[in-house]
Amino acid sequence: MTQLALVIDLNVCVGCHACVTSCKEWNTSGISGTLADIMPYGKDPSGTFFNRVQTFEVGEYPNTQTVHFPKSCLHCEDPPCVPVCPTGASYKREADGIVLVDYDKCIGCKYCSWACPYGVREVDPVRKVMTKCTLCVDRIYDDALPESERKPACVMACPTNARLFGDVHDPDSEVSEAIRDGGGYQLQPEWGTKPANHYLPRRKTDITIHEDELIRSDNPLSKELDRPVGPVEEQTLDDVTSW
Ligand code: SF4
Ligand code: SF4
Repeated sequence: MTQLALVIDLNVCVGCHACVTSCKEWNTSGISGTLADIMPYGKDPSGTFFNRVQTFEVGEYPNTQTVHFPKSCLHCEDPPCVPVCPTGASYKREADGIVLVDYDKCIGCKYCSWACPYGVREVDPVRKVMTKCTLCVDRIYDDALPESERKPACVMACPTNARLFGDVHDPDSEVSEAIRDGGGYQLQPEWGTKPANHYLPRRKTDITIHEDELIRSDNPLSKELDRPVGPVEEQTLDDVTSW
């Protein structure tokens, strides 16, 4: 069985929120309906998002790191949000493993959001229905789009390519390769939900600065003090750039 999913590389995510805003834009204008925004420019804004980026510090000073952690529905293979739904509105598709909500059947009772251990379901306060990531189901099968664009909006928008999309059951897919090669892991597997989305962990990168890299005359770390100085009226790179 195909299981579509996202693989998110925490090593290259810079927390820019492009995935959050592109998700909101696409789903607001797509079949999911307007995602509520209550007082977006007020003192206490709230609203519905399918995807949020949580940013936190890890480690002990001075060895701390800032981690950006995008999170949306993980399209679990054994999703506890589905059997608790009293109306059958919450369901998992056999063909591609996407977990969806049928808004026509949803009565907004929130049972599914209590059952989801990852806190990714958000009730729409205007329409009074449960919402969550659809993996852009209205995009990825759209024949009117070029094949290269039949991906979730968040994947298309990510400027660092931190987000991959594909079939995690196909051992030859890009996502399966990334999970294998990059040590991909599932979020809180102890819940037994078998999340389809995976994360690639942060990696340590050793940086070595060689002596000859400190000798460039435009390098602010330059060691030698007698740099060539041009005529005063002549513009230098330092005059026209922000560094
Ligand atoms: Fe359901 Fe939560 Fe799993 Fe998504 S992450 S399938 S909402 S249990
Ligand atoms: Fe991270 Fe990419 Fe989302 Fe930006 S768009 S927050 S880099 S996952």
